[in-house]
Amino acid sequence: MYCRICGTKDTQFQISGKYGCEHCVTVFTVPKQSHRLWIPISLLTELEEIFSRSQSKIQILSLRTRLTRNLAHSLFPYYEPMEMEVKQLLDANGYWENWKEGSNSFIVSKEGVGPVYHLYLGSEDHVRLEILRNLDQSYEQFRNSNKTLPTGVSRENSSLLRLFYRRKHWAYRPGFGFISSCPTNMGKGRRDSLLLGIREGVDPRFFSLFEKLSEFGIEIAPSTDHRRESLGNFRGLVVKISWKNAFAVQKRQFYKILGLRGSL
Ligand SMILES: [Zn+2]
Repeated sequence: MYCRICGTKDTQFQISGKYGCEHCVTVFTVPKQSHRLWIPISLLTELEEIFSRSQSKIQILSLRTRLTRNLAHSLFPYYEPMEMEVKQLLDANGYWENWKEGSNSFIVSKEGVGPVYHLYLGSEDHVRLEILRNLDQSYEQFRNSNKTLPTGVSRENSSLLRLFYRRKHWAYRPGFGFISSCPTNMGKGRRDSLLLGIREGVDPRFFSLFEKLSEFGIEIAPSTDHRRESLGNFRGLVVKISWKNAFAVQKRQFYKILGLRGSL
């Protein structure tokens, strides 16, 4: 068994776990996502209780949205990084005008205290857009301040987002969504994550509860992202909560606990 477009063989896919092109999704099967939509009220109530009891022990470090895309009708980075073609597409849309020779990342804009938009090339997928909000606030501060956080994005950034959702440019198939190199990222091609700093004395149920959330697409794991990116000065255990292809309704339910409104 092999993909007749890119030539990836079944044995190759078993080892690499990566698609070689968008046609691969029709050749190599992957386990289907769970379709349970609602997080049970009892679980949400328990979670909310844990958060509010541990208010002073939980620091909200950052919020990040990551969009990944591969060019339409192209070999994926497993075979071909397509950096020049991605730069041309971005350039034609008004981004990457000032990219430096040899550089494969580019900060699009820093909106004052708002989020930073950062483009990356040359990784697992052809292009990645990261939108990072550096917060470093206690859970309590965050819940209160969030009500007044500006929710809009600038014109420049919203047109960049539109480019990332314009299907004709990207590997996309009805029924599958945006196709990424790694089958588990496929669908929305989007991953949201939240870094939390956990101080000693947090409600011990905090960790066991998150295991129960994994079936809703919510994962929790220790993280070292903040050290790599020198985010804030938090010293202690840092955990990352992330949503990979979670349904909007699941995210909304969870965001509500954190006092977040709207989409990230
Ligand atoms: Zn293929």
